Amino acid sequence: MNCMRPREYLKKVGILESIKGRLVLYFILLLVVPFLFIGYIAYNSEKAALQDRIKGHLTSIADIQKGRIRTWLYERVTDVSIIAGNGHIIQDIETLEKMGDPHRYVNDPRYLRILDQLNSVKKSHNYLDIFILDEDGRITATTVNKELGEYRLDTEYYKESIKAGLAGQYIQGVYYDTHYGKLAMAFVAPMHSYPNLRDYGGAAVLVVGMDESFTPIIEDRPGMGSTGDTLIGKREGGYVVYLNRLKYRPDSPLTFKFPLSKAPTPILNATGDIEGMVEAKDYRGVKVLAATRYIPETGWGLVVKEDYDEIFAPVESLGRKVLYITGFALLMVFILIYMVSSRIADPIVELSALTRRVTGGDFGVNLPVKRKDEVGVLAGSFNDMATALMKYKAEVDEKGAEIGQANRELMSLARNLEAKVAERTAELEESRNRLRESLEVLERANVELRRMDRIKDNFLGMMSHELRTPLSLITGYSSNLLADRGFHLDARVEEAVEGIYKGSQRLKVIVNEMLDVSQIDARGLRLVFTPTNMLLLIEDVLKELGSFIRERGQTVVMGEFMDMPEVALDKKRMRQVVNNIIGNAVKFTPDGGRIEITARLYLAGDEYARAHGAAVGEYMEVVVKDSGIGIDKEEADRIFEKFYEVGDIEKHTTSKYRFLGRGVGLGLPIARGIVEAHGGRLWVESSGYDPARCPGSAFHVMLPIFKTAGDRGTVDRFGESVESPK
Ligand code: ADP
Repeated sequence: MNCMRPREYLKKVGILESIKGRLVLYFILLLVVPFLFIGYIAYNSEKAALQDRIKGHLTSIADIQKGRIRTWLYERVTDVSIIAGNGHIIQDIETLEKMGDPHRYVNDPRYLRILDQLNSVKKSHNYLDIFILDEDGRITATTVNKELGEYRLDTEYYKESIKAGLAGQYIQGVYYDTHYGKLAMAFVAPMHSYPNLRDYGGAAVLVVGMDESFTPIIEDRPGMGSTGDTLIGKREGGYVVYLNRLKYRPDSPLTFKFPLSKAPTPILNATGDIEGMVEAKDYRGVKVLAATRYIPETGWGLVVKEDYDEIFAPVESLGRKVLYITGFALLMVFILIYMVSSRIADPIVELSALTRRVTGGDFGVNLPVKRKDEVGVLAGSFNDMATALMKYKAEVDEKGAEIGQANRELMSLARNLEAKVAERTAELEESRNRLRESLEVLERANVELRRMDRIKDNFLGMMSHELRTPLSLITGYSSNLLADRGFHLDARVEEAVEGIYKGSQRLKVIVNEMLDVSQIDARGLRLVFTPTNMLLLIEDVLKELGSFIRERGQTVVMGEFMDMPEVALDKKRMRQVVNNIIGNAVKFTPDGGRIEITARLYLAGDEYARAHGAAVGEYMEVVVKDSGIGIDKEEADRIFEKFYEVGDIEKHTTSKYRFLGRGVGLGLPIARGIVEAHGGRLWVESSGYDPARCPGSAFHVMLPIFKTAGDRGTVDRFGESVESPK
């Protein structure tokens, strides 16, 4: 391991590449996932429970506070109403008022009696003042002596209550009272002079300092935590105005306000008579849980709230604790598992180091079998293996020596072989040179041969052409001599002339054939296409050959003959082809034999037609099948060569009759030349030559179907299809 380069080593200990790393990782995953899962569930359920508890708590505080505020309001209303409803006071003050300026009756016992009453109420609840205001807004009796006779015409409570002629009690919410320089509330109760039911017209007014009376109630926040806060507010001219001192804004009363559209949700709900519980941001923008209540008597909203963070602090600390414990557990597990996995993995690593030594060829290794577990078993088997390997190595060394010897022998053999190969190569080289020389000689001979062939062809063409004129003279004169009885020929002479005539006739046939061949060879065969009915053409030829056929006692059968269309053909040339083929069939079939002629049509792309070299388009095939001597397989193609005749023609003549039509072996080459000039194919099929059993042969003519001469296309196409017969 220490022979490794550092980078390789790092790769080797990469977490997933070592057993140790993998073990540690799996264990941690196995432990941490459930731990975190449980922690998460506990955290959430704890949080929900806590939230429920706090909600209940805030709700009950809000209900209690609402009740206390309303009770407080009732008490004040009651206090002022008691004064206002006191018949003696009304009677006395009416009498005193008649004296004009109040300062005149300050010492009047009736006034002192009234003052007594007022003072006792004031003292009992630490009010700022309690006084009587007459119809004109003048103070006619007061606990604050210096105010006597003053007017309170500008106050809201005068304008909204006494001046407005209000029958019931009136509460002026929180306001800044300039006379006492304090935040205050005023409670007004109109005075009725019962029992004679005559209205006095004035009213009793009670002024309460907020700090003195109300604040202790509102600031009493039992069990609400450090962020718990109670606040009251009121909607006023499109604003929400806070009325009490807020925990985080002591200057708030009457000065701290929000437009309705921007007001925090808790106070907005409370002043809007929406009672309940909200989770929202408060005036500081801090998230709080708040209970909202509405005080109908004053149109106030009451909010009892606590900061979210504080509420959930215990849960958060629980979450943190879970995390710490998890972290600690992880560390412990890591150490533990690292130790355990070391115990598992180290022997394996040790084993692998020793294995490497064995790989290096040191089979003498013997592992200490310290343990009885799987690793111990492994070490044991490893030792067995090392021993076995040592044995094999000895055997291999021995065999190696043998192989070395054999190898040396082989080497010397190979050297001999090499020498022999070199020798043979030289010989081969020599014979190849000789071969090349002979090839060159052959090639020269071939060129010469081809030249000679051309000369022969030319000669053939020229000669046949030159022979025609004298030949027609000979035929003409001899036929004249025979026809004109006026010559009175001697019988012997007449026989000779007849010989001349017949000979010249035969010669004419041969010369014409030679001319045809030379035209075909020079690709100079001119065809004149006319629409032709093949069946009629064949019947015509049969009629012509009728006498021979009858003479031989042969039967001609028109076999399967489909309704053949008219085809554009050179009628004269095609007749020559048919004549030759049927003529040959008659010739090479014994007397009494049978000749069958059939025809078929092949549609474009037909398999059979294509196999016989027919290109695209429709084809017509005419087959002339005889029961004659047949043709040897090897001869089947050669009979289409010029001047080729199979064996001795005399021997083929199986009949006692001799034939005039016996040619020089040009008939088939010409026929093939003509058929190919039509774009067709001509071939023969026979199972072999056998004059005794007469297997027969079948000549096939396959022609493309062109309905009119125009359909044949250009002369090029025609020229292309003309090939000299092979
Ligand atoms: P020729 O004009 O001498 O008959 P062809 O070219 O017509 O020459 O025929 C060549 C040779 O092919 C013939 O001599 C004959 O040996 C052979 N042959 C042609 N037709 C037949 C046939 N139907 N049956 C057997 N052999 C035939």
